[in-house]
Amino acid sequence: MAHKITGLCLRDGSCIEVCPVDCIVGGHPENEWPRMYIDPDTCIDCGACVPECPYEAIFMEDEVPDEYVAVGGEYINRIGFNETFETENVQGEVIKINSVRKLDVGEIVDLTEDVEDNAAFFETGPGYDA
Ligand code: SF4
Repeated sequence: MAHKITGLCLRDGSCIEVCPVDCIVGGHPENEWPRMYIDPDTCIDCGACVPECPYEAIFMEDEVPDEYVAVGGEYINRIGFNETFETENVQGEVIKINSVRKLDVGEIVDLTEDVEDNAAFFETGPGYDA
């Protein structure tokens, strides 16, 4: 098993800084791989990344919610959405994400849809060669 980064990820990057085995990478190109991704073969399930994420986007694989209830105002980051989110990441760099949608209060979202995307990044996508 490994931890998974869901569509709540907005590329803050705090997770990368705390991972003891350097198994988290930012997706590139961002219009194809819009989030951070965890290499499932390297992750040791230490959990250090979970509390560091300001968007609470990271879960143990078997705890990824299939009925995430939105607080309202948070964004989900998935290919196919076309709203824009702009902020600074943990290193103070301006980041602009063009594949988000703002969630409504009480909206229910299946975050398990993002789990396969994480695996695909390392199996068929750029992986560490980005
Ligand atoms: Fe890295 Fe630990 Fe998070 Fe796995 S659980 S991605 S090893 S910080």
